[in-house]
Amino acid sequence: MSELKYPLLALSRHRMEVDGEGVTTLVAGAGCPLSCAYCINKSLLRQAPSFVTAAELYEKVRIDDLYFQATGGGLCFGGGESLLHADFYEALRPLCSGWRFTAETSLNVSPEAVRRAAEIFDAFIIDVKTLDPAIYERYTGKPQGPVKENLSWLAANFEPSRLHVRVPLIPGYNSEADQARNEAVLREMGFPHIERFPYVIRPS
Ligand code: SF4
Repeated sequence: MSELKYPLLALSRHRMEVDGEGVTTLVAGAGCPLSCAYCINKSLLRQAPSFVTAAELYEKVRIDDLYFQATGGGLCFGGGESLLHADFYEALRPLCSGWRFTAETSLNVSPEAVRRAAEIFDAFIIDVKTLDPAIYERYTGKPQGPVKENLSWLAANFEPSRLHVRVPLIPGYNSEADQARNEAVLREMGFPHIERFPYVIRPS
């Protein structure tokens, strides 16, 4: 059994219709390359994680095995940036037979990390923030980096029906016109599932 450790912040069980198909447990892990102004997980990300092995995490989540199997659900990994932990998922995946693995990601990670994740995960929920480089950097505190390249690669190499892209309206940063432009670019790339929604700002 691998001794790789995952920086676990929180588990949220019995989620329905929010992380893709079926009943899911959301697994939140530490670490994110971005500093989004309205990050809903800021306080969570400031907590010290508990480090768990693949076997230890499996023990914590397997109580819902029957729900996962019966509904086509499984684990949804968020955080933080889920794609930072590919080695860990490779160790965990064989323990979780019949469960769907979904990654929540900004795709602001290396192209290599995306290619590895495509081998491990069944579905992706992608929050692109905005495709406008200047707005992106102002809102996230980081350059857009390889986000567009990673979007193009996934659109061309992953089952389209399992790619869900979220295009937010970010108060004080972008506009509905920016949202519409982003959606048009994503449709042109071949993404079928695009969700436009407003960020709700909560105190962190
Ligand atoms: S990508 Fe997500 S977790 Fe990371 S800073 Fe932005 S909102 Fe927070």
